[in-house]
Amino acid sequence: MIEPMTRINSGKCRCGAYRFHVSEEPFWVSYCHCGDCRKSTGAPVTVFAGFKIESVKLTGCEATTYRAIPEVTRLFCSRCGTPIGYQDVRLPGEIYYYIGILEEQTIVVPQVHAWTVERLCWLNITDDLPSYQHFSRPR
Ligand SMILES: [Zn+2]
Ligand SMILES: [Zn+2]
Repeated sequence: MIEPMTRINSGKCRCGAYRFHVSEEPFWVSYCHCGDCRKSTGAPVTVFAGFKIESVKLTGCEATTYRAIPEVTRLFCSRCGTPIGYQDVRLPGEIYYYIGILEEQTIVVPQVHAWTVERLCWLNITDDLPSYQHFSRPR
């Protein structure tokens, strides 16, 4: 079968049970320095790529979900434990994937820093990107 020309990225968890294709570029790419993301990923900072949900085609299993607060659903693979991303009911129609699960990571470049109020003091990233103390997108 011929792959559509619009297919620009894909992703999967470590074991490949959760896998997907996206047909559009991400509309938003942000560092997140919040403590909740640190808990969810184990990493000192993460990068999210936001996609319109209609541009995402799942080709594997559904993600397992976890909600610490009612608005935010974190997604992960229950088989291999890979953090997948999150959805926020205040941002309808959107899904945010952790950059680590994308196949093409170098083409997804962060535009902003979010939650710098919770940034680890020893983490030095020197760039001139806009920084937000809290959310980089209004809720
Ligand atoms: Zn997996
Ligand atoms: Zn965060």
